[in-house]
Amino acid sequence: MSKTVIVVGAGTAGLASAIRLQNNGYDVEIYEKNPKVGGRMYQVEEKGFKFDVGPTIVMMPNIYKEVFEQAGRNSEDYIPMQKLNPIYSIQYTKDESVDVSTDLADLTEFLEGISEEDTLGYYRYLTQTYKRYLVAKDHFIEKPFRKPSDFYNPKTLLNAYRLKTFNNAYNEISKFVKDDRLMKMLSFQTLYIGISPHNGPSIYTIIPMIETIYGVWYINGGMYTMATSMAKLFEELGGKIYLNSSVEEVVIKDKKANGVVVNGEVIEADYVVVNADFPYAMKNLIKNEKDRGKYTNKKIDKMDYSCSVFLMYLGLNKKVSDDTRLHNIVFADDFEQNISDIFDGNDPKDPSIYMYIPTKIDDSLAPKGKEVLYVLAPVPELKTRGHKWTQDEINEYKKIVYDKIKMKKGLGNIEDFVEFEKIFTPNNFESEFNAMHGATFGLAPTLLQSNYFRPQNKFRYAENLYFTGSSVHPGAGVPIALTSAKLAADELMKDDKNF
Ligand SMILES: Cc1cc2nc3c(=O)[nH]c(=O)nc-3n(C[C@H](O)[C@H](O)[C@H](O)COP(=O)(O)OP(=O)(O)OC[C@H]3O[C@@H](n4cnc5c(N)ncnc54)[C@H](O)[C@@H]3O)c2cc1C
Repeated sequence: MSKTVIVVGAGTAGLASAIRLQNNGYDVEIYEKNPKVGGRMYQVEEKGFKFDVGPTIVMMPNIYKEVFEQAGRNSEDYIPMQKLNPIYSIQYTKDESVDVSTDLADLTEFLEGISEEDTLGYYRYLTQTYKRYLVAKDHFIEKPFRKPSDFYNPKTLLNAYRLKTFNNAYNEISKFVKDDRLMKMLSFQTLYIGISPHNGPSIYTIIPMIETIYGVWYINGGMYTMATSMAKLFEELGGKIYLNSSVEEVVIKDKKANGVVVNGEVIEADYVVVNADFPYAMKNLIKNEKDRGKYTNKKIDKMDYSCSVFLMYLGLNKKVSDDTRLHNIVFADDFEQNISDIFDGNDPKDPSIYMYIPTKIDDSLAPKGKEVLYVLAPVPELKTRGHKWTQDEINEYKKIVYDKIKMKKGLGNIEDFVEFEKIFTPNNFESEFNAMHGATFGLAPTLLQSNYFRPQNKFRYAENLYFTGSSVHPGAGVPIALTSAKLAADELMKDDKNF
């Protein structure tokens, strides 16, 4: 008889780990608290408008495809993709914007318009960062750290040195380019994983390099297609998903996990894989602090959390101007102040915003002739902010974000054509997905919370228990959460074979 596995949560990493285990002969059941799969990769559907709730930018498409291909499927049948060019538009000031291209000739023309020195610097940045990425990928991102000697050995320590990650992202970029617009263009992406370009480890300067060399893609139907397609594949393989089923406890006896509690009932399993946010799960699902090793309530409270976001999902009653793209960035006038505010716990008075308009290329997401507009402003997570958002604060902040949207040509009178509006704050990320402090990208990937120092996929303090998702190794972002799913499934299978 097949061994049984319970997965807690049908987020990106929960679904992907469940697929891998089911495909390798385990009998897998997923319990998800919400009425739909996807977790942060959820979809809000209202009045014919369909909004991706969280992730929107598809990078490293091969990692998405591999989830389907390792199960012998053609990924095109599940997540048909198209490559974007330009990848996004950046608005620096009211009058200055640029479309960022991955086409070498277009990119070079744009860079040479700045200076030949910065063009050279940009291409040096690409090659040197690609080199560091290969080290990170082979020796850290795709490698589990079970025991101290997996990290504290001469080879790994040498590779850690070769990563040269002690500098911050902004300083690292300044070694290559001088132009302020280019500096911004290559450093704001640390916000994709919720850390500051001025403090976060410089390794995250790999993100714009990855966008440029592997491209930015769009999955038809939006990111939610990835969630529903993973659920479809899992069920085709024989797995079961229970929605509206909140797990109340992971049962641990004699330092061994053997099931979960749902609706007061114990459901037994040979293995448990937890996809729910790690710090939340420690505090709420493992009831006895003694079963958690070093992850006491005090330790969890002291950990560093990534920033959060203020999101507006707007259904527009007409198409917006041709000056917008699928992905759009609008910078704050004072980006440095904006960053300080986010990480000092203040709601930025002049935010930078990201706008996603999938209906530019996909008519399936809105009624005919109408537009979906997703607007995101990074804001502090709730621990640093000190308190939850009140309705008055939400109403006030909404006005600030609307003013910023108006910087984009053709959106000057945006409020006139809003037919539907829904707001998500850090409060929602905390209550809807159990993300600790509403930190949208989980535990911050600081040096002391990365690689060996991040919570690992195989739990060190109880047998038969595994973790996967943003707050555990290797970290946040869809491709990285998918890698975390692979690591967790591999760790479980490695242990199983050893018995
Ligand atoms: C606003 C936003 C924008 C983003 N943009 C991008 C992007 O453009 N590109 C990119 O690659 N990444 C992006 N990300 C990051 C990416 O979305 C996440 O890293 C990834 O989706 C997280 O997946 P996960 O499996 O770790 O967690 P989750 O999606 O949070 O999954 C955890 C699941 O567990 C469930 N759960 C929690 N508690 C319980 C319980 N007690 N019982 C049962 N179920 C439970 C939750 O409901 C959830 O479904 C973005 C994230 C956000 C929030």
